[in-house]
Amino acid sequence: MTGARPVAAPIRFPRLHVVGEAEDVLRYDEPARVLDGRPLAAEIKGRVRRQVSAFRRRYGFAPALTAVMVGHDAASSVYVQQILRSCASVGIPSRALELPRSISADEFRSRIAELNGDREVAGVIVQQPLPRHIPLSALTDTIMPAKDIDGIHPLNTGLMTLGYEGFLPACAEAAVEIPKFYGYPLEGKRAVVIGRSNVVGKPVQLLLVREHCTVTICHRRTRDLAAEIARAEIVVSAAGAPGLVRGNMLHPGALVVDVGINVVKGRIVGDVEFDSALRVAAAITPVPGGVGPVTNAVLLEHLVRAARWQQTDHPLIAGRARKRRAA
Ligand code: NAD
Repeated sequence: MTGARPVAAPIRFPRLHVVGEAEDVLRYDEPARVLDGRPLAAEIKGRVRRQVSAFRRRYGFAPALTAVMVGHDAASSVYVQQILRSCASVGIPSRALELPRSISADEFRSRIAELNGDREVAGVIVQQPLPRHIPLSALTDTIMPAKDIDGIHPLNTGLMTLGYEGFLPACAEAAVEIPKFYGYPLEGKRAVVIGRSNVVGKPVQLLLVREHCTVTICHRRTRDLAAEIARAEIVVSAAGAPGLVRGNMLHPGALVVDVGINVVKGRIVGDVEFDSALRVAAAITPVPGGVGPVTNAVLLEHLVRAARWQQTDHPLIAGRARKRRAA
């Protein structure tokens, strides 16, 4: 994402109020600021709405999004419905393509290839994981990089890693854009990212490095996760493990970005124990209402960018690279 920031009031850093020796009594004199993702999502969607109208005026059609699901999964359906609603709210035509779980890898490839060839479909997302008999490569080798708006194609990963134009997973971008929106200074900060998946952990690491953070990436085999968290001024948790990060593990005044989405006793929660973190952190993203809404908005922004690139001779159409302009 690009654009002038910050637009929201900068985070005020409260005074540290030491009330005892034990690690859980280091408190700030006020609770953390809750970094609601919805104002940023609304701002991005407003921009996208204008871009979609301009695109339609210029090219005579609105760029569409197709969300592919293989087999029925309740959680995926809820997520896809949210995306379709977001698309409708900004004038992007969208549809869910439900393929049967029994579809063969070859048939799956040919359905993705059809979408690649459809001029009006500007972006394609595919819900993962795929059934076991369909290797991920059937998707990543088939989806056209210029329509890969959630950044799963290796070409996009490579381009973005080396500073060229391409797409990264929307969720990773959302995790870094929220603190920027609220004016949190990232430069020079010690950051810990929990999770090393291709869709969240690794791209978040890349984006934080781009913001000049010093980043440690942690995962299941990290020897002492608590020690890493205790040193971090920024903690981004993308583990999918509820209660993994608690207030008494945090460096007082840390910024906490909770990417995790977990269902516990019918409620959606993140990876961070919200109430205890609230008493120690300077700022924290809530779940729900933090990274999630911004992820959807960033995805729409990618779609419009993809649509524009498809109407020009952008190098990504031919699988070539173009250096990114500095944001
Ligand atoms: P994943 O299972 O592919 O990866 C999880 C990573 O976390 C792995 O690298 C693993 O080593 C690490 N991890 C797991 N438990 C750990 C522990 N106890 N200690 C240390 N490391 C641990 O998951 P993913 O696809 O990267 O998603 C991560 C989370 O982010 C999930 O909860 C997912 O639902 C959520 N997510 C949110 C959004 C959004 O828009 N907010 C988008 C995508 C994913």
